[in-house]
Amino acid sequence: MELFDARVKGRGLRASRELSTGEVLLAEPGYAAVVYSSLASQVCHSCFRRQANLHRCAQCRFAHYCNRTCQTAGWDEHKQECAAIRKLGAAPNENVRLAGRLLWRRNRDQGLASDSQLLAVDQLQDHLRDLPGEQLQALQADVQTFLRFWSCGSKQHPADFISHVFGLIKSNGLTLPDQRGLQMVGLGLFPNLSLVNHDCWPNCTATLNHGNQSAVSSTLHSPLRMELRALGRICQGEELTISYVDALNLSADRQKQLKERFHFDCSCDHCSRHVGDDLMAAAAEAKPSADAVKEVSAFSKETLEKVEEARRDGDHSQVLKLCQECLEKQQDVLADTHLYKLKVLSVLAEVLTYHRKFSEAAGYARKMVEGYMKLYHPNNAQLGLALMRSGVTHWHAGQVEVGHKMICEAYRIMMVTHGPNHSITRDLESIRSQTEVELKALQENVLDLKNLPVTSSSSAQENTKDFLRQQ
Ligand SMILES: [Zn+2]
Ligand SMILES: [Zn+2]
Ligand SMILES: [Zn+2]
Repeated sequence: MELFDARVKGRGLRASRELSTGEVLLAEPGYAAVVYSSLASQVCHSCFRRQANLHRCAQCRFAHYCNRTCQTAGWDEHKQECAAIRKLGAAPNENVRLAGRLLWRRNRDQGLASDSQLLAVDQLQDHLRDLPGEQLQALQADVQTFLRFWSCGSKQHPADFISHVFGLIKSNGLTLPDQRGLQMVGLGLFPNLSLVNHDCWPNCTATLNHGNQSAVSSTLHSPLRMELRALGRICQGEELTISYVDALNLSADRQKQLKERFHFDCSCDHCSRHVGDDLMAAAAEAKPSADAVKEVSAFSKETLEKVEEARRDGDHSQVLKLCQECLEKQQDVLADTHLYKLKVLSVLAEVLTYHRKFSEAAGYARKMVEGYMKLYHPNNAQLGLALMRSGVTHWHAGQVEVGHKMICEAYRIMMVTHGPNHSITRDLESIRSQTEVELKALQENVLDLKNLPVTSSSSAQENTKDFLRQQ
């Protein structure tokens, strides 16, 4: 892997030799990372795992940790933050805390980047000039809070340097998921990874590995790190890319998101040729009139907004009613790969699974993953996660064979995007061994379905239950 000048895209990284599928090209511990303030007591401030019964820092009463190991490991990062929180009387928002951690770290390192760092952190771009007025105002408000947070004894920085730091956090900060990939729980800076440019059909993916802190032997410990993994074979000299946005958007919508959030015009091959747009906005095979397609699309868009509202209110029966009505209208008008149809199917599968109506949920989930498989890159992590959820739903619905197939396919993808040591891959492995056993038993006709024995709760079953609860 080497740094090179990617012309209009600025700096970039490219392969310095041929790379194979699933290869880890970069494993970068965060330069600085923080848990979202709203989740401060639910997520470990050292390893970013979300779990119950965390221990609180006795001094600031803000930071929380899994155990002493995590607290000790996180103390260097937290020490000055801890004092600043006590002095301010309350913890400021995550942007302010991340800026603090970045500058404390920079002071500790005395500006010297380690050998493995390709670029000093303050050389990242801040895009301040591209920010619209109200975002710039919010940023300036954070700068003011920061100046109060930054303790008096510390080295002082000019205000425009602090603005630069907030700008680079805004443009380069990566959101960090919990260990199951279900929820974003924090924000971090990974300067090397920030050099990887975007492509809507990328050849790499970036995955957070939470590391291993609880192992009995310290020789098995590994730190939290962001991994850059190859999605397929990559030739020497080829630029390495990841996608900053979900592939399941029309090219015009992806370009709009990228412009607003990252301030560039995407001219990747998929955008220039509008690849996938035809499928994602396709009409059903029954060849409905253009007017009908337009009408149902508008209706779906409106309904999906109402669905979001009902979900925020926790009104699940309203969500189900809206989605089922919408799906009926879409029938024979929108294709199975139409984005609005896939969105409705995904909500139905998720809500019904949550209410343990597995058979009903499985029908929707299956249609959803069939659509996803036509649109996503075959090694896309989102596709893997969707297959995993859908596989578990089918398994619980008693459709063991279909479920097992999906779990196997999810496992294949996760081995590429997450690797064998990630907790999601390990969850999948234990689920897969269970579906495999059940499938074998079914095929050998030794399982009397009416008299399913009550098995003791193995760790895999616990995982599955957790997994469903957290959806
Ligand atoms: Zn921890
Ligand atoms: Zn503290
Ligand atoms: Zn693009």
